[in-house]
Amino acid sequence: MYKNFGIKDELIELAKEVEEEVKEVYTKIDEVCAFNSIKVLKAFHDNNISDMHFGSTTGYGYGDIGRDAIEKVFAQVLGAEDSLVRSQFISGTHALTVALFAFLRPNDTMLSITGKPYDTLDEVIGIKENASSLKSFGVNFEKIDLVNDDFDYENIEATLRSKKIKLIEIQRSKGYSTRKSITIDKLEKVIKFIRNIDKEVLIMIDNCYCEFVGKIEPLEVGADIIVGSLIKNLGGGIAPNGAYIAGRKDLVELAGERLTAPGEGKEVGPTLGINKSLLQGLFFAPSVVKSSLKTAVFASRMLEKLGYKTEPLYNEERADIVQTIIFGDEEKLIKFCQGIQMGSPVDSNSIPEPWDMPGYSDKVIMAAGAFTQGSSIELSCDGPIRPPYVAFMQGGLTYEYGKLGVLKAIQIMQE
Ligand SMILES: *Cc1c(COP(=O)(O)O)cnc(C)c1O
Repeated sequence: MYKNFGIKDELIELAKEVEEEVKEVYTKIDEVCAFNSIKVLKAFHDNNISDMHFGSTTGYGYGDIGRDAIEKVFAQVLGAEDSLVRSQFISGTHALTVALFAFLRPNDTMLSITGKPYDTLDEVIGIKENASSLKSFGVNFEKIDLVNDDFDYENIEATLRSKKIKLIEIQRSKGYSTRKSITIDKLEKVIKFIRNIDKEVLIMIDNCYCEFVGKIEPLEVGADIIVGSLIKNLGGGIAPNGAYIAGRKDLVELAGERLTAPGEGKEVGPTLGINKSLLQGLFFAPSVVKSSLKTAVFASRMLEKLGYKTEPLYNEERADIVQTIIFGDEEKLIKFCQGIQMGSPVDSNSIPEPWDMPGYSDKVIMAAGAFTQGSSIELSCDGPIRPPYVAFMQGGLTYEYGKLGVLKAIQIMQE
């Protein structure tokens, strides 16, 4: 069957070898999936999820019991007091934007301690000029870069002691950088450190790509608020769109007032028939994250054996579902992404090319032959066209399709 798919014998043999080598890693991933599946099922039981929650509202969306139950289930799963889980969030970027505008006021300072935040936040913060940025409202931004893939504790302490910081942002996943993603242990350590200096500063986590990769989520180690996308991990490939904000009740309420309108807040927001999909997506999420992780581990070892630098290595601890492959060559990066597209279920005949995407400063190539537009919990691969030409691969609704996609991509790149 692999030959019918155009995969040559050497690659099939190499894949067999790799699957032998990574067995133990897969077993650990299975165990985390079992743990998180129980966590999700328990939340469904505790909140009496029933047929009635699959109903729909239109217009203002008053009294949507499904929506309210979904927000309780998400809160429980994430260790939050409350959550805002809405299809009115257009993307993860939008949810992060709503959160930042909800918590920050003129003359406040926001501090990122994981360096420059994700590219699409440049115009939100005002790092890149935009008339609607936080900066245009008088909100200051400062950043402290990571040193050797860990927090710059000295600098964080000096900054917190020298001025009032309103909000600290920590982005766990690497975004389009080559740093390591932040594990829950590192996160716990830095949150304790911050709390010893400043009891009040809001600690907000960009949790995109990290949910269900481990057994513990950031709110359980002291973060105040977390934000993520539903076309990534927690949507399980089923949610048609949306994002979430979860954490301290007062903060979730502020976010609700900003997403809709002051005075309306969380009480409004029609669900237009997606309640069942959001619940079903969350139900599948631990298993879909498992498939994504196995696909990433498989790709990491395959490409390492073929002589490429990969991060993380197959047996390293993972904080997110992202696998980077450093190609060091524009053509290889482009071919690899095109191969991922060819191995996808949807639009497999399209050939992705680098383009000027809104919100990004370099040209970006994105392969996502996905059921849901732009969904990156489905097998997808993207990368900015700039040295060292790194592919950021993630997702995989099932391991079998993920593996096929990776094999196809390698084949196309080698051709
Ligand atoms: C995906 C992602 C976002 C938000 O991206 P959207 O495409 O707007 O959903 C933000 N931060 C990180 C680290 C991400 O991976």
